[in-house]
Amino acid sequence: MPKPRKRSPHSPIRRCAACRRTAPKSELLRFVRAPHTLQVQFDPTQKLPGRGAYLCPQAACVRMALKRNSLDRVLKTKVEERILQEALHAVHN
Ligand SMILES: [Zn+2]
Repeated sequence: MPKPRKRSPHSPIRRCAACRRTAPKSELLRFVRAPHTLQVQFDPTQKLPGRGAYLCPQAACVRMALKRNSLDRVLKTKVEERILQEALHAVHN
């Protein structure tokens, strides 16, 4: 008896909000807008509930997102600059 196949074992593909490049979700930086408070935070664990936005793990993309408010557009809310600064520190290390 063949076992029922599970759907794609691969990580889902997501798009960088800054440069529009697509990559597996696991390779990107995730930002999440919490369902009730609508507060946005950097989500290095990729596990927080809520609407996500993604950036390449590169300072260039984080800076571009800062300059153009790319995450604000994707998440439809104001993303505080310190959230992106936090991510910038993460990619520098
Ligand atoms: Zn990018």
